[in-house]
Parts: sequence; C-alpha cells; structure tokens
Amino acid sequence: MKPFPRAEISRKALKHNLARLHELAPSSKVMAVVKANGYGHGLLNVAQCLDNADGFGLARLEEALALRAGGVTAKLLLLEGFFRIGDLTTLVEHDIETVVHHESQLEMLESINLTKPVTVWLKVDSGMHRLGFSPAQFDATYQRLMSNDNVAKPIHLMTHFACADEPSNPSTAEQQRVFDTLTKDLPGDRTLANSAGALFWQQSQADWIRPGIALYGVSPVFGDLGAKHGLMPAMDLVSQLIAIREHKAGESAGYGSYWTAEKDTNLGVVAIGYGDGYPRNAPLGTPVLVNGRIVPIVGRVSMDMLTVDLGIDANDKVGDLAVLWGKNLPVEEVAEHIGTIAYELVTKLTPRVAVCLD
Ligand SMILES: *Cc1c(COP(=O)(O)O)cnc(C)c1O
Repeated sequence: MKPFPRAEISRKALKHNLARLHELAPSSKVMAVVKANGYGHGLLNVAQCLDNADGFGLARLEEALALRAGGVTAKLLLLEGFFRIGDLTTLVEHDIETVVHHESQLEMLESINLTKPVTVWLKVDSGMHRLGFSPAQFDATYQRLMSNDNVAKPIHLMTHFACADEPSNPSTAEQQRVFDTLTKDLPGDRTLANSAGALFWQQSQADWIRPGIALYGVSPVFGDLGAKHGLMPAMDLVSQLIAIREHKAGESAGYGSYWTAEKDTNLGVVAIGYGDGYPRNAPLGTPVLVNGRIVPIVGRVSMDMLTVDLGIDANDKVGDLAVLWGKNLPVEEVAEHIGTIAYELVTKLTPRVAVCLD
C-alpha cells in the first residue's frame, strides 16, 4: 500500500537532468547540490541515484555525515564550511572538503593540529555580499591558508552569484570579472556557477558547476519552466481525495468560511495541508491536478486537508489521486500562484510526506 501524501521521485528524471547538465557544461565537472534533504527529494536516495556525479554539495556537516554513513564515497563539499572547531577533526576523519569564507574559520584552522590536511575552497565575495572574503582581503587570506599545514594544497577557489537567475542582469559578468582577476594564475580548481550560472552564463562554468534546483528538473528563474531547458521534473507530489460533497450555491467551505460557491458544484477534499508543507497561503484558484484536469483550490488550506472545486459534472471518486505538482503540473507554476519560488515548495515538505523512489 502506497502512503499518502507522498513525493514520488523519478530516478530516470534525476539521471536525465544530470546528463543534461553535463551536456550543457561539457568541460565542467558537476558538484550535485543535495542539501536540504536533496531539495526535498531524499538526501541519500538522490546521492545514490546520481552515483556518477563528480561530487556532492551540502550545507550542513550532518548532511555530509549521513551520506558517508549511507556508503557514499564521492567527493563531498560543505558549501558554508564548518561552524565549530570540533568539526575540523570530523572533516578529516570522513574526508569531507570545506569552503572557507570567514576570518573565524581561518582562526580555527590556525589553532588546531590536524592529523591530515583538509581540502579547502576559498570563497571570494565577488558581489553577492553574503559569504566570502572581499577582494581587498583576498591576497592576505590566500597567503595565510598557504602557510597553514592543516590546509591541503592546492587551495581551490569559489564564488557565488547574486543575480544569475536574471539572464540580462550585468552584475553576473561583473562578479565573474572580479573573481577571474583575483584568481588569475593561481593553481587549484574554480567554481562559480549554481544552476542559473550553468544554464545562462556559459563562461562561468569553469572546472565545476554546482547545480541544485536544475538537477530536480526545475528552472531557477521565476516564471520559467525547467522543461524549456531540456530538464525533467523529478518530483510528483501526490495525495488522494478523501471526501466528495455536493455543494450548493451560497454555501461556504472550510475555516473562516473564506469562500462561498457561486453555483452548485462538487467539492473534493484532498489529504494534504500545511502540516505536510503545502503552504497555507495558497490562494483561491491555485491549481491541483485531479483525473487529468486542473481544478482550483477553494477555501483555506488547513493542516491536513485542502478543498478543490471539482465542478458540477464531476465523476471523481473518493480514493482518486490528486497531484499537487509534478510532470503534468509544473511546480514553477504552482509557486507562481502562491507567490513563492519552487525551491521553497520542494524543500518545505515535512517528514509526514513519504519520499518514494520509483
Ligand atoms: C544551494 C547552492 C547552490 C545550488 O543553487 P541552485 O540555485 O539550486 O542551483 C550552489 N552553490 C551554493 C554555494 C549554494 O549554496
């Protein structure tokens, strides 16, 4: 018996998307970003499925340790680096690489004796202004890392784009120029591009691309579709109808009587709600796919359920599937209705949603 609600993950789509990214960036290795539970697709599942990725990018040490515990031997990189001095011995023990983006991390590296040097990616703030050393700090930082025996040589180099998802925004080219100027003639690998960089700024692909959202078949650009770039959506979020009621014109539905029917219809109750990570602020009219047609959400999304207007001629039955997003209802489109980005929808699913690989 399949659980409800569930996120059905397509191995075929994940593998296809990785191959597509290799095709779009033929000279680059791929650091598959699987942080946040593989963008909600299942951390270990995704890593095992993408066993031909050149490495995996993570945001938390715990995520990297979960991959090692699951038998993943590939290169692992902490994109925000380590947070505590004690983490450094864990990195060495489990052969996990780290970004170094802040003075506090330099100080930790300078106040410990590691049994083996740790592989470091020095992060430059080329214009994102979130993490990284400024261009003015770069040379001194590089020298401090060079003279540190805890740091493996060569030092690798990275930066992150602020606006790569706006393909006409000139700031990406400027960030690239800043990074290239600082790192010119240095040894070590270079990585700049997230999904948007890899898709829209070919010159930023460098030694490694770091795609996250594109691996899952989703476009990084608001209002765009992954399918336009040859990507395949990897998640179908599925639940089922648990009740159908004949509903008269003038009757309201759900908490706060937020919506009132203008004409006679049938309402379907779908077993998914904000307790599963489906946003409560989904407005009236947000699309849901039932038996091959789009039906609108009516009334408020509640914790365990939401209500859809099935129409007067509906012959749907209790137990029929309802798809909240997936290959036939792009998550990008649902995100637009809700006023958020697809990244947030897929990563916010709660543990109550079973993640099932096909
Ligand atoms: C999350 C993350 C990525 C992946 O970003 P996408 O937009 O999902 O491709 C790449 N690099 C860093 C540093 C990140 O934090």
